[in-house]
Amino acid sequence: MSRTALVLGAGMVGVSCALALQKRGLAVTLVDRREPGSETSYGNAGVVSRSSIVPLNNPDLFGKLPSYLGNRHPALNLDWRRITGNPAWLLRFLWEGRQSQAAQRIAALDSLTIDTVARHKALMAEAGISHRLRETGTLKLWRSVAGHAAAEAEHRLLAEHAIGSRVLDRQGISGLEPSLRPIFPAGLFISANASVDSPGAVTAAYASLFAARGGTILRAEIAGLSKAGSGRPWQAQTGKGRILEAEIAIVALGPWSRDLLAPLGIDPPLDVERGYHRHLKAQAGASLSRPLYDVDGAYFLAPMEQGYRVTSGVDLSLRDAPDKLRQIDAVTHSASEAFPFDGVIGETWRGARPTLPDSLPMIGEAPRNPGLWLAFGNQHIGFSTGPVTGEILAALVAGEKPPADPEPFSPRRYL
Ligand SMILES: Cc1cc2nc3c(=O)[nH]c(=O)nc-3n(C[C@H](O)[C@H](O)[C@H](O)COP(=O)(O)OP(=O)(O)OC[C@H]3O[C@@H](n4cnc5c(N)ncnc54)[C@H](O)[C@@H]3O)c2cc1C
Repeated sequence: MSRTALVLGAGMVGVSCALALQKRGLAVTLVDRREPGSETSYGNAGVVSRSSIVPLNNPDLFGKLPSYLGNRHPALNLDWRRITGNPAWLLRFLWEGRQSQAAQRIAALDSLTIDTVARHKALMAEAGISHRLRETGTLKLWRSVAGHAAAEAEHRLLAEHAIGSRVLDRQGISGLEPSLRPIFPAGLFISANASVDSPGAVTAAYASLFAARGGTILRAEIAGLSKAGSGRPWQAQTGKGRILEAEIAIVALGPWSRDLLAPLGIDPPLDVERGYHRHLKAQAGASLSRPLYDVDGAYFLAPMEQGYRVTSGVDLSLRDAPDKLRQIDAVTHSASEAFPFDGVIGETWRGARPTLPDSLPMIGEAPRNPGLWLAFGNQHIGFSTGPVTGEILAALVAGEKPPADPEPFSPRRYL
């Protein structure tokens, strides 16, 4: 009989774990309280990133911090209730950004992103949604000529990792995106990146692929997780009192992962970097062929099925605190300076990037809890790195060599 697995959470990470375990012959049940791909994996910018190898908490952050304090910069919002409530997380997050840690963290992120486009491309073909993938790269843009030096420096760093990019001037930027207003004198075209037109629909299509291959998807709120004793199965209790059992359980609940683990005495230092999006309507005749990041404006602008999605920077407020619209209001304004828009479509969305202090995900078995596996903390690049996270986890479960060295992502570094 095949081994059984319960995957808790059907975001990009959980769905990818479910597919990868299924591929190795396990009988997998995927559980979520919502439809697959309805939360963080729905609301992101849809960038399939190869180039995100430098974590946000890097040595450069220290120089920028003074301009972020006071909550006037769109890149960051600091809520003092969150900071004073859990100062340890922010201090560890800053401490991990020190120079001595940079090379190994870049190497770890490089190993996670190296095949990200190829993995998504293969999965999209299998799921019959190849039309959602755009292999048109991404653009990073600066509003001052000083951006040229930054673009050159980033180009050199990416080249060291064989990541394709090209520095652009104002004319080069207009050549690629003629609808943009000419406010950016410097840019970097990152040809190695790709993007999708609906990350939520892609996640849902991967879940449908899992179901079509015989996997079970259950819609249920998971209220608790337990194990009766060694050699016994893991049990997940649903909000309606049902007990789900399997030999192994995988916690892939994104920003909610700690909620279920803390009662078991497992307390990963997982916190969130909140972010928002809004959809904007382009004026007639205006269009973009790829997502762009406006460095000085601190937003992504990405063409989506629903319209042009503008996503905001990091809001360090408590995960469930009410919306703070300052950043998304500011970037909506900045995006309108860059591109001709004709109003907002629908509601503002808020999500929470699940982040550990070292900005690396946790992938592996929970120490002292055999059969309990962890897959979360994919921070700003979980849509991109969900598939490789699933492959690493499933390879470890199956006793195979994983596609990347799992050591930097080991739960033992924090638990
Ligand atoms: C504004 C923004 C922009 C981003 N842009 C990008 C980008 O361009 N590219 C990129 O790669 N990444 C991006 N990200 C990051 C990316 O979206 C996340 O890292 C990724 O979606 C995390 O996936 P996940 O599966 O871990 O979490 P989620 O997608 O949040 O999935 C967790 C699931 O767990 C379920 N769940 C939680 N608790 C329970 C429970 N008790 N019972 C049952 N189910 C439960 C939820 O319903 C949810 O479906 C962005 C994030 C934000 C916020």
